[in-house]
Amino acid sequence: MYQGSCLCGTVVYQLHGEPRRVSHCHCRMCQKQHGAAFATYLSLPATELHYTQGADAISRYQSSANVTRGFCRHCGSTLEWRASTEPNGYVALTVATLDTPIHFADIPHICTESKSSWCPC
Ligand SMILES: [Zn+2]
Ligand SMILES: [Zn+2]
Repeated sequence: MYQGSCLCGTVVYQLHGEPRRVSHCHCRMCQKQHGAAFATYLSLPATELHYTQGADAISRYQSSANVTRGFCRHCGSTLEWRASTEPNGYVALTVATLDTPIHFADIPHICTESKSSWCPC
């Protein structure tokens, strides 16, 4: 089981399953929301994500027609990404908020058409 939390520690979550997918996303929305060159998300069925603390501190923002992004309203940590069009009810979580060490063999880069000119990768 994997555990993660936001920067201020208000929100704590557990993953009751293995991540099914992971990617580095270079889209402009991820760049803006994270204030970074790209965002790394894993995804798994939403039923396997359990907020054990601070679920009511998560604010959600609709960043496009079908996508809602969740973040801790106290510290601003980006936490999740949900698409209403996702057929399997998957939720994407920010890998950087995991506290349990995790290893991925090869992480694909997506939306690289908007990759920043200063991206180190
Ligand atoms: Zn927080
Ligand atoms: Zn993105």
